[in-house]
Amino acid sequence: MRNLRENSKVLKTVSGFDRIGEENAFAVLARATKLAQGGMDVINLGIGQPDFKTPQHIVEAAIKALKDGHHGYTPANGILEAREAVVRRTLSLTGTEVSPDNVMIMPGGKPTMYAAITMFGEPGTEIMYPDPGFPIYRSMIEYTGAKPVPVPIREENGFAFSAEETLALITPETRLLIINSPANPTGGVTPKAEIEKLVKGLEAHPHVAIMSDEIYDVMTYDGETHTSMLQHPEIRDRLIVLNGWSKTWAMTGWRMGWSIWPDGLIDMVRKLAVNCWSCVNAPSQFAGIAAIDGPQDEVAKMLKAFDQRRTRVVELANALPNVSCAVPKGAFYAFPNVTKTGSKAKELASDLLEKEGVALIGGPDFGILGEGYIRISYANSLENIERAMKRIDKYLTENS
Ligand code: PLP
Repeated sequence: MRNLRENSKVLKTVSGFDRIGEENAFAVLARATKLAQGGMDVINLGIGQPDFKTPQHIVEAAIKALKDGHHGYTPANGILEAREAVVRRTLSLTGTEVSPDNVMIMPGGKPTMYAAITMFGEPGTEIMYPDPGFPIYRSMIEYTGAKPVPVPIREENGFAFSAEETLALITPETRLLIINSPANPTGGVTPKAEIEKLVKGLEAHPHVAIMSDEIYDVMTYDGETHTSMLQHPEIRDRLIVLNGWSKTWAMTGWRMGWSIWPDGLIDMVRKLAVNCWSCVNAPSQFAGIAAIDGPQDEVAKMLKAFDQRRTRVVELANALPNVSCAVPKGAFYAFPNVTKTGSKAKELASDLLEKEGVALIGGPDFGILGEGYIRISYANSLENIERAMKRIDKYLTENS
């Protein structure tokens, strides 16, 4: 038999792969599942996926597509009807016109990060990303050899990014700026005025491309509204917008995303698709059309439930000993401050899982500035949220 360990001593892989990181939410999910299989009653507030089912009419559309014979390759950028559906949705949500020629149907949200970051990152360049932020941004930047430049996301700014702080970090080497609102892991929503300030400031830096991750665009609360970067025509020629079906229509496992690219870049990403995944699977694309064009009442129901849970999570988190929790305005995460508990956030998260059966994520898994915070995903029932928060309360009371 081949000795793989010995073999690995002689295999030489590229250094970029040593720098690829992880999304710890998946590791926590695996550990939580293992503990549950061992008989522990685990409550999962760790994973970032809606606990709702994909609406039935969307599932039916995929089944019909298969029965109708849509099981072959599609164009690499996606079938025209799916791209046109994205165009319609973009117009109705943001009031902006885009051409289906600038739309890519992607196998989820993450591949747009991969495409944009590998398109701009190489040694000697810089890519800016939010910290705390979605961990894959930094991981992929590291992979390319570009210098990752964290843009601080601060609680005192309501977890919105600051245009001034962002602009001050731009250098001649900056190639790409990644922004995300509504944000994971903080639930922060950047106000329109701050986005306008950023766009104005970017006029002085025409060498910087922007990737705006807007995957939580409809998930805003308390009258807050999402401002799409598409609403700023002055940066459209260097703007990539990441979006997708995963969160809004509870379709994480379908691997369906889209992105909008400027004329100068769209053919590059199409070629990448041809080389890597050919196209997104055909029935999922038909499901995607049904999601956008069909009734949105299930989405509305889900958003209403998220809003109720958000209020309850914040209330319960603020009642925990030595914990304070800002009110998140978007997505489905709360990001309580646990600095005063005296515990390191990752140790606290690990103890809560191992000892109390509550899965959540330590803030440092989202960046250096995540220390002192934990991320609670409220994509779980109110009943489970209440049970989990009781356990956290017990743990903090016993360990303070
Ligand atoms: N962008 C953000 C901010 C996310 O939180 C996530 C998933 O958690 C993604 C993108 C990735 O979405 P997908 O599962 O469609 O790849």
